[in-house]
Amino acid sequence: MTTNTYSVAIIGGGIVGCALARELGKRFSNVLLPEKESAVGCHTSGRNSGVVHSGFNPKPGTLKAGLCIEGSNLMRQFCKERGVACEQVGTYVVALVEAQIPLLYDLKSRGEKNGVPGLEILPIDVVREREPNVKGLKALFSPTGSIVDSKALVHTIARDAQDKGVDVLTGQEVSGLSETAGHVELRTSERSYRVALMMNCAGLHADRLAHMMGVGRDYVIAPFRGEYFVVQRPVPHPLVPFLGVHLTKSIDGSVLLGPNAVPAFGREAYGRWNVNIRDIGQMPAHRGVWTALVRNRTLVRIAWNEWRHSRSRRHFWKEASRLVDGLRPSDLTLGRRVGIRPQLIRANGHLVEDLSIETTPRSVHILNVVSPGMTSSLAFARWASSRIDEGLRWKALEDQPAEVMA
Ligand SMILES: Cc1cc2nc3c(=O)[nH]c(=O)nc-3n(C[C@H](O)[C@H](O)[C@H](O)COP(=O)(O)OP(=O)(O)OC[C@H]3O[C@@H](n4cnc5c(N)ncnc54)[C@H](O)[C@@H]3O)c2cc1C
Repeated sequence: MTTNTYSVAIIGGGIVGCALARELGKRFSNVLLPEKESAVGCHTSGRNSGVVHSGFNPKPGTLKAGLCIEGSNLMRQFCKERGVACEQVGTYVVALVEAQIPLLYDLKSRGEKNGVPGLEILPIDVVREREPNVKGLKALFSPTGSIVDSKALVHTIARDAQDKGVDVLTGQEVSGLSETAGHVELRTSERSYRVALMMNCAGLHADRLAHMMGVGRDYVIAPFRGEYFVVQRPVPHPLVPFLGVHLTKSIDGSVLLGPNAVPAFGREAYGRWNVNIRDIGQMPAHRGVWTALVRNRTLVRIAWNEWRHSRSRRHFWKEASRLVDGLRPSDLTLGRRVGIRPQLIRANGHLVEDLSIETTPRSVHILNVVSPGMTSSLAFARWASSRIDEGLRWKALEDQPAEVMA
């Protein structure tokens, strides 16, 4: 088996790996991106809702907020320059009952602290002039919320990385990793690569690669499927509340209802009855899964309800009917789009909602690209690149207060 040498390898051709490759390609020669599928963007990054979030949701002052705002600006600019389909449709968060109205004001104030431009609280009659069938009392309108063709986006970022000299090699599943003093060795079925720095951006499989290098053993990824229904006739579309089922206009003009969050029987089990024995077999071996199941009764109840209602047209219709008038169950058909969310669980049963990074002297493992990961990806890549010194070492995070990671 031949061994090729690179300065940096970024494992995984999702949006995070491709964005990072593009960024590091500007600074270093000899950058490699191995992707196990025959193309980039086959998993979560090519199967999401395609919403470029404007950034009113994250807590002000956190890294998450900063990356979302910067990422949203960079993303819309990138799409414009590179001809990726992206439409600034705006987003509405609707208060359906009186008790939810203060939440709209809280979100507006959060958004303003984060620097989101143009936020307005609108009375429902003003919203209805734009979207005649919307229900509710008031809405928070955010004009910069946008929709994008997420698959085309990943492909364009990957092409940009290639133009900067990065070797994007598809059909290369990394199945072995080891580290010695000066480098990391990556093995695929045909080749091995020796690199000075390895960045693990393997999404649904990132924990496994980290475990191969003896880090992140505290964590395991549990997969949750996000399913969508498609609305078959025109309804008011660009409603994107931050929680629960939402209505999203897609870049192809269709209107999506979803996603839900249903426990999946495999990390790439996109069908309801798809089972991956290896994935399922590994789950009980991790203490975190048991602890979460035993300690977190709410989680168990939500997971069970989500599974019961998975693909139930009537359930989706009921949820959507709280937001819009005039929708009939027969207007909905099950969509083909399904994305899987890699939910990181700690050994103490805690569901991790923050960015999680584990390191060894020559490797960096991005374990939890928290939502909205697509929106933040270009900003995340810049931030991550700024943490890599010229000697290809990751600068420790000690200089950052812990709360910026929240
Ligand atoms: C249902 C759903 C809807 C979402 N909607 C939005 C949204 O509207 N807006 C938004 O901003 N974010 C959204 N997100 C979040 C966003 O999609 C993710 O945060 C983002 O796509 C994560 O990208 P990634 O590159 O980390 O992972 P992935 O896209 O999963 O990429 C990881 C890549 O690594 C490869 N890989 C894995 N193991 C190996 C190996 N051993 N060797 C080589 N390659 C390997 C995989 O094949 C894959 O291509 C959504 C997520 C879900 C689940």
